[in-house]
Amino acid sequence: MNIKPEDQTILVVDDVPENIAILGEYLSSYRLKIATSGVKALEIAKTNNIDLVLLDIKMPGMDGYEVCRRLKKDPATGDIPVIFLSVLSEVEDKVKGFQAGAVDYITKPFQIDEVKSRIYTNITLSLYRKQLKELNAELEKKVEQRTAELIVAREKAEESSRLKSSFLALISHELRTPMSGILGFSEILHSELEDPVMKDYVEAINKSAMRLNDTLEAILSLSSYQSGKMSARLVHVNLVERIRNLIQPCIPQASIKNVKLEFIPRKEEVIGTIDPPMFDLILNNLLCNAVKYTNEGSVSVLLTTESRFGTKYDCITVSDTGIGIPAEMHDTIFDDFRQVGEGISRPYEGVGLGLSMVKRFTELHNGFIELKSAPGEGSEFKAFFPRKAENAKQSSPGIADNITLEELRQKQKSRILLIGKQAFKDPQEESFLKENFRVDHVADGKTAIELLQVKNYDLIISESRQALGMNEAKVLKIINNRKGNLPVIVFPSQNTALQEGEEIDPALSMRPKPETRGELLSLLEEFIRR
Ligand code: ADP
Repeated sequence: MNIKPEDQTILVVDDVPENIAILGEYLSSYRLKIATSGVKALEIAKTNNIDLVLLDIKMPGMDGYEVCRRLKKDPATGDIPVIFLSVLSEVEDKVKGFQAGAVDYITKPFQIDEVKSRIYTNITLSLYRKQLKELNAELEKKVEQRTAELIVAREKAEESSRLKSSFLALISHELRTPMSGILGFSEILHSELEDPVMKDYVEAINKSAMRLNDTLEAILSLSSYQSGKMSARLVHVNLVERIRNLIQPCIPQASIKNVKLEFIPRKEEVIGTIDPPMFDLILNNLLCNAVKYTNEGSVSVLLTTESRFGTKYDCITVSDTGIGIPAEMHDTIFDDFRQVGEGISRPYEGVGLGLSMVKRFTELHNGFIELKSAPGEGSEFKAFFPRKAENAKQSSPGIADNITLEELRQKQKSRILLIGKQAFKDPQEESFLKENFRVDHVADGKTAIELLQVKNYDLIISESRQALGMNEAKVLKIINNRKGNLPVIVFPSQNTALQEGEEIDPALSMRPKPETRGELLSLLEEFIRR
């Protein structure tokens, strides 16, 4: 630091004019202020910009120690360095001076070079201290500002996470319920219709609904993944059989495009350790993409065992002779909503979520994905799954709210409680119900009451009032005590139909038992949408 003495002001405090004169001579290059008493010194120090005080100890009235203590006590003068001047050279005097807040000590008679260098050093140190203090204050201000910004950002993030969760819960319910209606009814229509043109139309409706359903499922699974609550539930599975089953539904699509689709396993059994629904989703996405982005040639699937970084992996390679991917997009296509050809004029349909799920779900197995691809030369996606279960991120028993993909899918469905041994006479009807809803089936009202204490439902269906039996009032009481109205549909049987003039609880809806899947679906739609 370059200090110019002419910019520095020194206050000399001494009751002996000769001492002041000597010091004045030594320090002529500095700006000087003079005080001949303690009281005057305090006054000058307070109102002038003093850089250093040379303070005599022995003065009449207020001595140097007291002046120093008062200077240090006052925030306006507390930072000014004080050097004591005295003939006293006993150790206790020096200690007393330092205790009062002095930074240095000069004994009389003065040595000119000593005085000059001590003053210069202390002014430099004081300026450094001042600079440091200013820097600290600035830093503290910045930290405070940044902390305030972070608090606001965190509050905003928490708020948007809350909004996102409730939005997702809403779309999960509001879109899923009508979606199962569209899918269910189009399936029923397809099997009932005979006119081939009409059948094609219905098939088109069903396909579009399935696409929408897949996108909805992808968004919901990804958002669950992002909340960090998803884990893989690993089980031992024959991968050869699993891959064969997954390839089957893609064959028609490939053959329409004249693309050969092949999987030639080297063995009939390879036992891998995977989360089956996640694995299906990974392979399905890779396969669908390979077929989608290949216009001629072939798509092939290979199952091998390879070692990487000292770990053994089951590898599934999906390669195609399709359009390929430019090298600069190899990383980005694994990000949410990213595609090689983006914008609404892109030639292929899709929303760009498939590969994000592939990457994340493979990572939940503690695996990874490799990609080799070049435009016009095709692509090769290779998914690595560790052979040993203990390597994978298992759902931790301590974290109760960690869910698997399968649980998430189940969670997104509406919940129905069926009461009665034979709520549906046609077992196909019940399995149709179970495909589209989360269904619990209990034999009687008593068991229903036990379940209702611990689980929530969107709808209750009772085979008859007889099935509720003596417990009808209690079931209804539990339901009525709950927030929101939970509908209860009862199929009246002959001996429990309403007697004339009999009043029933408004929560009960008496409906004729549906004869067909279509009627059943309409009834459920009507009640769950209420
Ligand atoms: P999308 O729904 O668009 O298919 P994905 O996340 O599955 O979304 O894939 C992201 C992008 O990666 C695709 O839009 C496409 O541009 C590119 N891509 C994925 N697989 C292939 C492939 N086998 N061949 C060529 N491009 C592919």
